[in-house]
Amino acid sequence: MNKNSSNTMALAPNTSNKRETVCIFGTGDFGRALGQKMIQSGYSVVYGSRSTQMSNLIPKDAEVLGHAEAAQKAAIIIIAIQRQHYNFLTPLAEVLRGKVLVDISNNLKLNQYPESNAEYLAQLLPGSKVVKAFNTVSAWALQSGTLDASRQVFVCGDDVEAKQMVMNIVRALGLTPLDKGSLLAAQEIENYPLQLFPMWKFPIFLSLGLTAFFFLYCLALDVIYTYIYENNNFSFFIAITIPNRVCPVMALILLALVYLPGIFAAIIQLYRGTKYRRFPDWLDKWMLCRKQLGLIALAFASLHAVFTLVTPLRAFVSWRTSKGIISQALNNKTEPLNNTNAWLSDSYLALGILGYFLFVLLGITSLPSVSNNVNWREFRFVNLGYLALIFCTAHTLVYGGKWFLSPSAYKWYLPNIYILSLIIPCAVLVVKFVLIFPCVDKPLTKIRQGWERKPKYSE
Ligand code: NAP
Repeated sequence: MNKNSSNTMALAPNTSNKRETVCIFGTGDFGRALGQKMIQSGYSVVYGSRSTQMSNLIPKDAEVLGHAEAAQKAAIIIIAIQRQHYNFLTPLAEVLRGKVLVDISNNLKLNQYPESNAEYLAQLLPGSKVVKAFNTVSAWALQSGTLDASRQVFVCGDDVEAKQMVMNIVRALGLTPLDKGSLLAAQEIENYPLQLFPMWKFPIFLSLGLTAFFFLYCLALDVIYTYIYENNNFSFFIAITIPNRVCPVMALILLALVYLPGIFAAIIQLYRGTKYRRFPDWLDKWMLCRKQLGLIALAFASLHAVFTLVTPLRAFVSWRTSKGIISQALNNKTEPLNNTNAWLSDSYLALGILGYFLFVLLGITSLPSVSNNVNWREFRFVNLGYLALIFCTAHTLVYGGKWFLSPSAYKWYLPNIYILSLIIPCAVLVVKFVLIFPCVDKPLTKIRQGWERKPKYSE
């Protein structure tokens, strides 16, 4: 780094509350919002602009100068200008030599240019140290202070010292820097704001597909079949009955799908006898969206809870109850309490409540603000996912188990939806049970600690 007088001054250790001077090129939306936030955090801000006239929009305590003059006042220059105008920087190459240039730009399309904007800037000004940062923070969030959801700032750059200086600014603004490595990572960082729910795509499409399948399945068995063979018009089941069957089934299957890739991973590692070989791509992708699958499952479970709570309000339910009472009155006979049924109904309700409670707890621990505050051991302790899966599977088993054996459950020779919903969760729990046996768990733990059955590099 060229230690000219201005740089040395700007990098001098802080002896007062006042921090160093930072230069921002561009007095547009982002430049102004970032400048305001920096002034609030104790920095002196000097703008480099095409027009040196002060306006009401520019933060009060900032200075506005021409680009070259402003750049001389600071060691760090934030380029708050669109990439297509970067050419104007070339004549300033000498002034910018040795300075840290922060590229904050975004594009309109994914992979819009062959190289990232930050790499392009580095090519234009090889004598400067380019760092990519701040592009995932919006001007609006900086101004309104609504940064809670996006405190993380991705930073990358080839010069470690320059990157540290930018990360210090990020921290001083109350944000969290995340070092993404060299400038090669800039393309990926620039693509982040343009991606549409990348981790949610697979879970959302899977949930939509499965929901449509189970909805049509129930429609065929509960509405169409009863209409054809029993001459009952239960079309109103579409509103509450069928959704209240599909939601718990979806919640249970998706929760099991959160744990199934872990089971596959364990089997693959045991089979290969090493953890140093990549999993197949589909498994990697599946593992990465487990949290999203779990959150969608929680949404389905919550809907199921709400649908169940409104059950007593339904006209169909009160009609069925009064029909039972009237038939007992007409026959002058009171049905004795069936103790087995009472036990079954109370048990499945209790299991459902406990399962849902653990499910919610699991959802809460997945929030970054919670998971960031627990260490690994605490996280494992409260990671009650398998327990939630056991309770929810037991809840479905106790409720729907009676349909396993009843021939009436096999309309058109198709099994009841509850039978279908239990296949994946039961398979996951059975294999997990096998995996915790010491004779399987011990070699798996060894493999995960780095042991290899056939070491690649033996001494
Ligand atoms: P903007 O409001 O259009 O401001 C861009 C500034 O660039 C202008 O105010 C102007 O400043 C300067 N400029 C324009 N044409 C120029 C030229 N030909 N030569 C030199 N300077 C020129 O844009 P913005 O929203 O602030 O965005 C600036 C950069 O930040 C973009 O790269 C954008 O991708 C990135 N970004 C923006 C946001 C956001 O929320 N807005 C979020 C993340 C990243 P002067 O008039 O002072 O010269």
